[in-house]
Amino acid sequence: MLWFLLIAVIIFGVVVYRSHLFQQFLAAEGIKPSLNKEELYSLQKHFAYYRALPPKSQRIFAYRVNRFKKLTEFVPRHMGEVTSEMEVLISASAVQIAFGFADVFLAHFDRIIVYPDQFFSTADQRYHKGEVNPAMAVIVISWRHFVEGYATEEGLNLGLHEMAHALQLENVIMNDEFGFMDEDAIKLWQGLASQEMRLIREGKSTFFRSYAGTNHAEFFAVAVENFFERPKEFSEHHSALYKTLADLLQQDPLLLR
Ligand SMILES: [Zn+2]
Repeated sequence: MLWFLLIAVIIFGVVVYRSHLFQQFLAAEGIKPSLNKEELYSLQKHFAYYRALPPKSQRIFAYRVNRFKKLTEFVPRHMGEVTSEMEVLISASAVQIAFGFADVFLAHFDRIIVYPDQFFSTADQRYHKGEVNPAMAVIVISWRHFVEGYATEEGLNLGLHEMAHALQLENVIMNDEFGFMDEDAIKLWQGLASQEMRLIREGKSTFFRSYAGTNHAEFFAVAVENFFERPKEFSEHHSALYKTLADLLQQDPLLLR
């Protein structure tokens, strides 16, 4: 009994100490403990994922959004400014996808460029709605398509799509956040995804849009969109694929419904 108490006290001490260190880190970075009233209202109003979380998780979520927002440079292109509300909602999209990992904040990507609408990419001479460029450490977002993605729940969500690319890259980029996804789940996912992609290419799968058949990265991003927006339909369509994605992301949206 005494041992148990001693271990409990030590664990408590470590947790308090770690949280104290994190507070110090945030203070050094000039980061306030959480979002202000208006920013919390934006989350409450526009972010169904946040609304569905239990109160304690909502506080952690808001805290993480604040941290992401403060440590990321938001750059407006072809528009006057990226407003505080836009920063909150784009940050929330990044926090949503990484919420299963306590220490993952897409650290490699320190800049997010925001266009008002689709933009012309010199890389492939085409118009894009979003882009993730690991060489430039940048995520690019069309604000119009970002808003449209969260306005409906039809398995089409630009923010989640681009954050899914960023998360997958973050997992293989050598930094503090390297290798956070479970290796066995990755292997299982690749096998199941290959089968599903083959069906899509043969025109047999009706659940994922055909773009998911482009390659493994696009399949993952489209699957993530559906995972958060249509979890019930996704798990009914292919429960093993759904379960593996829940293992990969360390969270299950079905439990929030
Ligand atoms: Zn994509």
